[in-house]
Amino acid sequence: MRDKPKVITCGCRFNRYESAEIKERIGADIDKPVVVINSCAVTAKSEAKSRHAVRRAIRENPDASIVVSGCWAELDPRAVGEIEGVDLVLGNEEKFSTGSFLSKKNSAKTYTGGVNSADGFLETAVGFMESRTAAYLKIQNGCDETCSFCVVRLARGKSRSASPEFVKERTEKLIKDGAKEIVLTGINVGQYGNDLSGDIDLANVLNLVAENKKARFRLSSINPNEVTKELLEVMAENKNICRYLHIPLQAGSDRVLKMMRRPYSASDYRKKIELASYHLPNLALGCDIIAGFPGESDEEFNNSLQMFEELPFTYAHVFAYSAREQADSSKMGGQVSSAVKKERAKLLKLMATAKNLKFRESLIGSDVVVLVEAGEDDSGVLRGKSDSFITVEFRGGREMKGSLANVRLKEVTATGMLGELK
Ligand code: SF4
Repeated sequence: MRDKPKVITCGCRFNRYESAEIKERIGADIDKPVVVINSCAVTAKSEAKSRHAVRRAIRENPDASIVVSGCWAELDPRAVGEIEGVDLVLGNEEKFSTGSFLSKKNSAKTYTGGVNSADGFLETAVGFMESRTAAYLKIQNGCDETCSFCVVRLARGKSRSASPEFVKERTEKLIKDGAKEIVLTGINVGQYGNDLSGDIDLANVLNLVAENKKARFRLSSINPNEVTKELLEVMAENKNICRYLHIPLQAGSDRVLKMMRRPYSASDYRKKIELASYHLPNLALGCDIIAGFPGESDEEFNNSLQMFEELPFTYAHVFAYSAREQADSSKMGGQVSSAVKKERAKLLKLMATAKNLKFRESLIGSDVVVLVEAGEDDSGVLRGKSDSFITVEFRGGREMKGSLANVRLKEVTATGMLGELK
């Protein structure tokens, strides 16, 4: 019986989840060691990291079959296949059948493109991933939007959803196995259900899983056009759904949003945030913002700054625009210089840090539920995340690890808060 295959993950938590799926599915009847690099290509930097991981795997595993899968393999199989030492290049759909491709004799080296014809969601029973208390559950894959800067949609294919039965069965199993928090994730989780028949959408599948009060649920990133009144009502009615939303903004100017092919205007976005704040007071609200999109003028950048300042964000993921060859925006005129992109990203990050501190200060004296994730040493200090995703430290016994603790917040620290067990 051969050792379990090694799967090396580059990129996002979604890819990490899929690495667990790849491992689960490879099976044991492979005649030599296998190393899979599940690659990423969302930015030029992540592609370089993937290339580095492939070269290292080849160097460190001379006797193994080297398989490269994931977004980089899907988007540029020729470049990946040209790396000496790579035995197999598999796309984002084919990677779940790594075992059968490996056992094919005298076969081709590259199998990609299956995402473009994938019409169903591959349901794989994967266990815990993040820690012994928090788990991620992939409920959706692909995306039907066409954002001009994005290659993820090209690497992932159209949106497809797991059945509500699968989602319910998986969450129950994860809770039975000890999960206290489950993050429902996808490439564009807001599009959950669009491809399923019947009245199935994210609001009702979230309501379905939240019936089990033994754990709390968190949504991963969701686009503004998918933040519906029904979804906000389900979040407001179920106390075990985290008061947390991450809603990518990307830019504050309508002209730039149009060039990005984002499916909303600046005022649409504002209205959605007002609706969310109405239904969910004290909401932890995050967004993604791109600085320096091609053609973005100083004034248009100030629209992003102003919007970020005016809306009740508590944090932001700020990205300096990264041209991706396969993305339409890389062919647009008015590419912004790296120095200007860097400067704009810096200004946004400074504002995001200030807003996060203000948010944490506003929570002093309030009571929160913390998922206790760490506290190994004898210091008596435990650490974990509140439902608004703030890192909280407080004194308590190690036996509390893995539990949901009621904590009163006392003071802010450099990046989190200190609290007291109630
Ligand atoms: S919503 Fe836009 S940015 Fe997000 S995955 Fe889809 S196409 Fe890409």
